[in-house]
Amino acid sequence: MENVGYFAPSDVGQALELLAEQGSKATVLAGGTDLVPAINYYSLWPENLIFIGALGLDYIKEEGGKLLIGSGATWTQILEDPLVAEKAPALAQAARQGGSVATRNAGTVGGNLANASPAADLTVILLALEAEVLLKSSAGKRTVALKDFFTGPGETVMNDDELLMEVQIPLPAGSAAFQKLGRRKAMTLSVVNAGVKLNLDGDTCSGACIALGAMAPTPLRCSAAEEMLVGKKLDAALIAECAAAAVAAGSPIDDQRASAWYRTKAGTAIVARALAQAAGIGG
Ligand SMILES: Cc1cc2nc3c(=O)[nH]c(=O)nc-3n(C[C@H](O)[C@H](O)[C@H](O)COP(=O)(O)OP(=O)(O)OC[C@H]3O[C@@H](n4cnc5c(N)ncnc54)[C@H](O)[C@@H]3O)c2cc1C
Repeated sequence: MENVGYFAPSDVGQALELLAEQGSKATVLAGGTDLVPAINYYSLWPENLIFIGALGLDYIKEEGGKLLIGSGATWTQILEDPLVAEKAPALAQAARQGGSVATRNAGTVGGNLANASPAADLTVILLALEAEVLLKSSAGKRTVALKDFFTGPGETVMNDDELLMEVQIPLPAGSAAFQKLGRRKAMTLSVVNAGVKLNLDGDTCSGACIALGAMAPTPLRCSAAEEMLVGKKLDAALIAECAAAAVAAGSPIDDQRASAWYRTKAGTAIVARALAQAAGIGG
């Protein structure tokens, strides 16, 4: 890579000024675990890289009834953090299953979201947890629900001058679970993944969120399937019916990792497993 500008601002204000000045000529660099392979293998040629690893965005804290995770928090931080373990254990469960020690040490939650892969693992459980993202530019800030964040593969509602600052998870985070199926057990992108969150009143479901990855051009919330559970006692038959409805909301494709047929079959099993786990009825 030649003739690439490299900037390493030391505070958020400087970073936002650089983004405002450079607009589409700037590419944000966090852990680099998505971006660097894209540069190496797919001939992506950024004009200017803005490294955001020195902005202090690697915090995890509870505030105002929310779990706040700075966009620079790594997968390792998330899977080791006691607050995440207590308040949103399914997120830690997802972080534990991603990549390798090296990618988990470098890769960030902000990068996983901003990269907007339909198969991203942290993304799908955060979608189920009804997370929002805080976006900032030099002109101001806004909060966007993750369900409205993704617009296509690699595409989000973020403007060129915006930085993803923080992920906000409303608490309590219900009873949640994450399931992933890859082509092997480790170091693999998901063929299909699912995150679910259930609010349970005894054994009756009072609220449900179901998110699916790698089944559509964007990570998906399955609202029709969610509605099937509300006000009902969860059992194996209802879970199977709901999992089939969740997958029916997708539009899977054949690609190098799996066929659409396989994704549909496996996705149904993965959603059913996640629902059973969250409901505490085995799976
Ligand atoms: C070997 C390997 C295995 C992997 N395994 C998995 C896996 O199992 N599951 C999975 O989901 N992913 C996996 N990944 C993908 C990757 O590790 C994650 O998506 C990671 O979270 C990306 O974060 P990053 O900090 O490295 O992002 P970067 O590569 O630095 O950035 C990714 C994109 O997001 C943008 N960006 C980053 N941060 C911000 C921000 N704060 N604001 C605005 N834009 C931003 C960048 O400009 C770039 O376009 C794997 C990658 C590799 C190389």
